[in-house]
Amino acid sequence: MKHLTKHELKTSIENKLVNALGVDTETASDALYYKALSMVVVDYLQEKHKRFAVDTNSNGKKQVYYLCMEFLMGRSLKNSLYNLEIVNNVRDALNDFGVKLDKLYDYEPDAGLGNGGLGRLGACFLDALATLDYPATGYSICYEYGIFKQKIVDGWQTELPDYWLPGGEVWLSPRPEKAVDVHFGGEVEEFWDNNYHHVNYKNYTTVKAVPYDMYVSGYDSKGVSRLRLWKATASGLDMDSFNRGDYISALGANSMAEVISKVLYPNDNHNEGKSLRLRQQYFMVAASVGDIINRHMATYGTLDNLAEKVAIHINDTHPTLAIPELMRILLDDCGYSWDVAWNTVTQVFAYTNHTVMSEALEKWNEDLFASMLPRIYQIIKEMNNRFTYDLYNTYHLDHPTVERMAIIANRTIHMANLCVMASHSVNGVSALHSDIIKKDVFNSFYNIMPQKFTNVTNGIASRRWLYQSNEGLTQLLRETIGSGFMHDMSELKKFNQFADDKSVLDVLAKVKLQNKQNFAAYIERTTGVVIDPNSIFDAQVKRLHEYKRQHLNALHILATYQWLQENPHAEVTPHTYIFGAKAAPGYFLAKQIIKLICTLRDEIEKDPVIREKLRIVYLEDYRVTLSELLMPASEVSEQISLAGTEASGTGNMKLMLNGALTLGTYDGANIEIAQHAGEENMFIFGMRADEVKEQKICYDPHAIYRDNAVLKRALDQLNKGIGGNTFHDIFHSLVNSDPYMVLRDYDSYDAAHQLVVRTYADKYKWQAMSLRNIAESGFFCADRAIGEYAQNIWKLR
Ligand SMILES: *Cc1c(COP(=O)(O)O)cnc(C)c1O
Repeated sequence: MKHLTKHELKTSIENKLVNALGVDTETASDALYYKALSMVVVDYLQEKHKRFAVDTNSNGKKQVYYLCMEFLMGRSLKNSLYNLEIVNNVRDALNDFGVKLDKLYDYEPDAGLGNGGLGRLGACFLDALATLDYPATGYSICYEYGIFKQKIVDGWQTELPDYWLPGGEVWLSPRPEKAVDVHFGGEVEEFWDNNYHHVNYKNYTTVKAVPYDMYVSGYDSKGVSRLRLWKATASGLDMDSFNRGDYISALGANSMAEVISKVLYPNDNHNEGKSLRLRQQYFMVAASVGDIINRHMATYGTLDNLAEKVAIHINDTHPTLAIPELMRILLDDCGYSWDVAWNTVTQVFAYTNHTVMSEALEKWNEDLFASMLPRIYQIIKEMNNRFTYDLYNTYHLDHPTVERMAIIANRTIHMANLCVMASHSVNGVSALHSDIIKKDVFNSFYNIMPQKFTNVTNGIASRRWLYQSNEGLTQLLRETIGSGFMHDMSELKKFNQFADDKSVLDVLAKVKLQNKQNFAAYIERTTGVVIDPNSIFDAQVKRLHEYKRQHLNALHILATYQWLQENPHAEVTPHTYIFGAKAAPGYFLAKQIIKLICTLRDEIEKDPVIREKLRIVYLEDYRVTLSELLMPASEVSEQISLAGTEASGTGNMKLMLNGALTLGTYDGANIEIAQHAGEENMFIFGMRADEVKEQKICYDPHAIYRDNAVLKRALDQLNKGIGGNTFHDIFHSLVNSDPYMVLRDYDSYDAAHQLVVRTYADKYKWQAMSLRNIAESGFFCADRAIGEYAQNIWKLR
């Protein structure tokens, strides 16, 4: 499709202003220009998607459907303009109206329909799928309220609702004609008639799922991915109640239905087991599978070739019920036999695991499940009966092993087990994580079906954090290695040849300084605090979690602060620690860790001597758009999870791409970052995953507390109080149980920090290390990850 010219853009923007928004170009506000421009871009994306869909459908291409309860999309306008390569034309067109494009971006709220890494992965994958011209649809829920807005009040996190639709809905195209009915509750009757098994499902409640589509263009490609978001509405009025004159309950059914898509659960890596969440999950998958089937039938008129033409991906266990839902349709609606249906289903589904931590594994109470989803429950029971029969009789496994692998055991439904037994592919998201899956969590499965298990290391939409966020570095790369990396990030390797070129290293340093100044200006504008662009910018930005160990970082800052109080005139390299993290609203210890970091910040701010050497910035409301400002300015990337707990991490990749050096453990994708960039270009510390396993057995944090004077002083300060605030819960957790072995890794972390500071003093050495990280970051592009999924898992041509 032809690019929009400046002239066409001017005409279309004016048309939207006048005809759709009822203003003229002279009087329209920037907010209306944002809206008009966005409408023009959406029209173009829609048309481009239509052409792409017609093209791929007529060629009988296999479709990818990516099911995920979260898509952390961030903003769309800038991404679309850059991916469509019309940013200059748009800037020029707007200039003619006296409007600055860069001011318009800020009118768009982040589409925060996700918590953190998992949701952002889905968004990055839609970008890569479109860039590689694979026909793909992401499915999720159109949450009216996305991830909450975080406000820090007196050091404590408070949550405000994220009502994003007023500025965000311009990116959503309603498709009411594609609505799907989803049924809950009711009863199932079964009977046999002429050897045919009939199922009569009745007295259910119907919720209507209405799709709203968002489009993601690929970079300089034909492809456009579609993100289909389902909104729940009541299926008309409850006419029974209405006719009985019960006006109130007739309308009440509306709000009952609509709660389903009201709000995103703000838990990251934690399963709450709430019934509304189960309702959301089934709502999402039933609407999506229904839509996939409708679309397939419209193209092919049969489901016999479903497995050949359709790949459905289950991102984490949240969309697991898509598996029994497809079974239900094949059995009840289409009359396939169990064996034929099962054969199709097992070829269609693939599953990605995202965590090995037990508190995140999804389990549902069997009775709750049976009453909410009676037919799906029957199908799961049948799956479980056949599966456990096989485990006993074909594989001769013992009772405890079968119990561990069963879908239903102890009146509980285990979603991960369902995914593993039913999918043709099970993958982890980094080499280490995929290894742990095989050796630990799913070991019994691996022993009997090893061919299912594979790895696809995560990747990021590199262009978003480079081309769109770091203009200086993009320019330097184009001048040194050409523009080939824009299509093929492995070409970044060519940058390696400049590792000894001082003139390039000087430019690299200058670019970083400029980005740090931009970031410092944002901090000053939003908080009034003036930070020193010549200090080391050391960032830990990610969800707040004990396993991610922000408290290890905080404890180390506290110890450094205590040392500086005794040595106020010591010559040190100024260090700015930047934190950004939301805590789940019900995660009390995480909220205390935020309070601890903010308390330290405030205490240090009170000391005019120390704050020139050591400073903390707490970024409020960390989100995709903030990450785009921070990554280019960061120099140290803190990736300090306990080895074996972080499945992959993707923040580490965004920072590496922008030249930050990783200070991290041997965990998740950090290990592969070390393999690519070289350990000598990172700061690795702490135990390895196998050591952790070994040492956990007789771990005694109290002994470390007792024997390590520096740590003891810092920990005791938590009890005594900092600026009048005490942190007994954090103290007790660390000294008495320390589930993530913060104290055990502390000395090694401190040593790594000292090496960071010594290395930073050698400017060219640091810049050369930074350059090597940038040059080796191509592997961590989502294009590479999607290439692997396409070839090895979805079997796309
Ligand atoms: C990339 C990203 C994450 C994931 O960060 P990790 O360090 O991998 O946990 C979380 N939140 C946002 C806003 C991101 O952009």
